[in-house]
Amino acid sequence: MKITRLDIYRISLPFDAGRMLTPSQQETGKGGDVYNAASPDLSRMESLLLRLHADDGRQGWGEAFGHLCNPATFAAMASSVGRFFLHRQTEDSIDGIATTMKRAHQAFHGFGSTGPVVYALSAFDTALWDLCAQAAGQPVRRLLNPNARDIIQVYASMPSYNNNPQEVAAQVRRAADAGYQKIKLHETGNVAILAARDALEPGIELMVDVNCPWTRDEGQRRVSDLRAARLSWLEEPLWPPDDMEGLAMLRGQGLSIAAGENAAGVQGMLQYLREKSVDIVQPSVAKIGGISGVAAVMHMAREHGVRVVPHCFYYGAGLSATAQIVAAMDDTVFLEVPFLNWHGALHAQLPVKPLMTLTRDPGLGFIPDMDVITANLVDSATLD
Ligand SMILES: [Mg+2]
Repeated sequence: MKITRLDIYRISLPFDAGRMLTPSQQETGKGGDVYNAASPDLSRMESLLLRLHADDGRQGWGEAFGHLCNPATFAAMASSVGRFFLHRQTEDSIDGIATTMKRAHQAFHGFGSTGPVVYALSAFDTALWDLCAQAAGQPVRRLLNPNARDIIQVYASMPSYNNNPQEVAAQVRRAADAGYQKIKLHETGNVAILAARDALEPGIELMVDVNCPWTRDEGQRRVSDLRAARLSWLEEPLWPPDDMEGLAMLRGQGLSIAAGENAAGVQGMLQYLREKSVDIVQPSVAKIGGISGVAAVMHMAREHGVRVVPHCFYYGAGLSATAQIVAAMDDTVFLEVPFLNWHGALHAQLPVKPLMTLTRDPGLGFIPDMDVITANLVDSATLD
C-alpha cells in the first residue's frame, strides 16, 4: 500500500471529574500542575489524532502524545515526519510495518529517543497497524495473538483530587459502585491514599501513581508509610523518572514498583529491565513507538520475567490501540482508562464501562464521530 494523504486533528474534549469541591476549595497538594493530564485544574483533555489514507481507499488511525506538548508533536507530524510517510510504499504485513518503521526511526534518530518526533512516529506506526489489520481482515489484536480476547476488563484511573481525603474517598466509592474492581489514584498524600483504601472493600485493588516527585530518601520513607494501603503498585515514585538504580532500591519492600511510560523509547525500556528497576513496566502506545513499540517491550519483558501493564491516559485512537494490545495479553491485565465524564462521544467505546467488548471488525476498531472532531477541533492539517 501507498499513503496518498494524511489528516491530523488536534481536538480538545471537555470533561468533568464529578468533583464535589472546586479545586480552589480543596486543600492544595500539588495543584497547579497543568502539565500533568491528571491535574485537578483541567477541564478539557486533548487528543492528537492521525488519519492515513491508503491508495486503495482504506483509512487508518493513530494517536500521538500528548496534552500540552501537542503543538510541538503536531508540527512534527505536519512537516518532516508526515512527509517521510507520504507516498511511501509499505508492504501490508507486520514485517512490512517493521521495515518502514525501522527506516523512519533511523531517519529521525538524531532528534532524540523520546519527545515530539518519537510521539509522532508512534501515531504513524499505530495507523499502519490499523491499515495492515484491515488488509488481513482481522482486528489488530489477532495479529498480535491469534487467541486474543474480545472482552477485556478496565481499571479506573482517577484524576487528582488534590489530596483531599473526603473527596478522594467519595470518588473511589463512586468508581467502585460503578463496578470497577481496580482503581488507580493520582494522589501523593498518605492521608488521602489511606482514606481511599478505607473506603473500599478489601477485594478491590488500589494502585497509586505519584508522577515522579520524590528523592530516593523520601521514596524509602513513603514506601514504608504506604505499606498499610496494600497497594497493587506504586507508580513512578522517584525524580528523575529514569533513576533506575533508585527505583531498584525501592523494590522488595512490600510494594510493587511500576514505571516506564516516560522511558526513552524501546531502548530506554530495555534499560529498566536490565537494571531490574521495576516489577511492572508501563509502555505507552502514543509515546514509545506505537503498537510495534509496545509489542517489542512485551517481548523483552517476557524474557526478563517482568509484568507489562500498558499506560493509557487516553480517550482517542490511543485508547483503542491499547485496548487491542491488552486483549492480546492475559486476563490479569486490565486496560487503564481516565475515570472522567466526557462531554461528547468521540467513538462507540465512550463512555467506558468496567467491561469493554471489542468489535470484531478488521483493524483498530476506532471509528470516530467526525462531528465530535469538528466541534472540538483546535487545529488540523492535511498533507497530500
Ligand atoms: Mg502514570
